[in-house]
Amino acid sequence: MYSEILNFLPADRLLFHEEMKKHTTFKIGGPADIMALPRDEEDVRALIAFGRQRRIPMFVLGMGSNLLVKDGGIRGIVIKLGDNLDAVEVKGDEIQAQAGVKLSTLARIASFHSLSGLEFAEGIPGSLGGALVMNAGAYNGEMQGIVTEATAVGPDGSLKTFKPKEIEFNYRHSVFQNNGYFVLAARLQLVYDERDRIESRMQEFARRREEKQPLDKPSAGSTFKRPPGFYVGPMLEELGLKGYSIGGAQVSRKHAGFIINNGNATAGDVLQLIDYIQQKAGERFGVELQTEIRVVGED
Ligand SMILES: Cc1cc2nc3c(=O)[nH]c(=O)nc-3n(C[C@H](O)[C@H](O)[C@H](O)COP(=O)(O)OP(=O)(O)OC[C@H]3O[C@@H](n4cnc5c(N)ncnc54)[C@H](O)[C@@H]3O)c2cc1C
Repeated sequence: MYSEILNFLPADRLLFHEEMKKHTTFKIGGPADIMALPRDEEDVRALIAFGRQRRIPMFVLGMGSNLLVKDGGIRGIVIKLGDNLDAVEVKGDEIQAQAGVKLSTLARIASFHSLSGLEFAEGIPGSLGGALVMNAGAYNGEMQGIVTEATAVGPDGSLKTFKPKEIEFNYRHSVFQNNGYFVLAARLQLVYDERDRIESRMQEFARRREEKQPLDKPSAGSTFKRPPGFYVGPMLEELGLKGYSIGGAQVSRKHAGFIINNGNATAGDVLQLIDYIQQKAGERFGVELQTEIRVVGED
């Protein structure tokens, strides 16, 4: 059945039984039945139409930097936009870009054009689409502050342009986490500033990340959302969980807010560790920790 995709997508754009661990920053995840690497928006729409007609589940992947894919992998088709749909156009103080462009590349393009607003994105290892969907942010910047429009394709194949209000941005949340739309492109509004100043802010953010985060180990960034009134790292330190491991999954010794893969972690290890932390945080602080990382796939 899947071979029919070859009618509209060349063979070198299709990966069968592709291990998701090759496509996630956690380096964890079982196989996707099929991974499609679209060349353009038309390919994405053709894939969605194909999936709809044959009732095949579809999943959209950016750079896999906020994902825990379970060990059984993902059934159906994974459309990988990261690195594939990556055109960028700078028009005055606006940027129009496709969803697959790397966020840090976009931040550097902005700085090259003396445009400020994306400095926070330096060091966030995701795609523009994934960042928009997650309302990614750091150092007082957030996608919410710069996105003026997002173009997305719905489960029925129709294209829709979403204005900021319709995107329903919230802390690490947007409507795209639940509405089944795949973001294809976005428009960003930035402001002019001196290039040197933009670059020095980016360098400062990169320095802080290097100092605080376990960037030498595979992870998916902060495991949990910040609960009101608490910081996850210090909470976990107080619980004595810094360095605590289950299998190959470990609470980072450098930053307890990150779970790292110590080399051979399974998704099962990470999920057990998450459960354990949630239980301990609930008992001690009465806090229900929610994951920021998205857990997908089958056991
Ligand atoms: C070392 C490290 C540091 C990090 N630091 C930060 C940080 O400072 N701030 C922060 O907010 N995050 C941070 N993250 C998390 C992550 O980088 C961001 O959430 C990022 O924006 C995710 O983008 P992605 O393309 O990798 O998305 P993915 O992980 O590929 O996908 C995440 C979710 O979005 C969906 N999705 C992806 N693309 C689309 C699309 N085009 N349309 C619809 N749905 C889509 C996926 O289906 C999935 O549900 C960090 C991660 C790491 C590993």
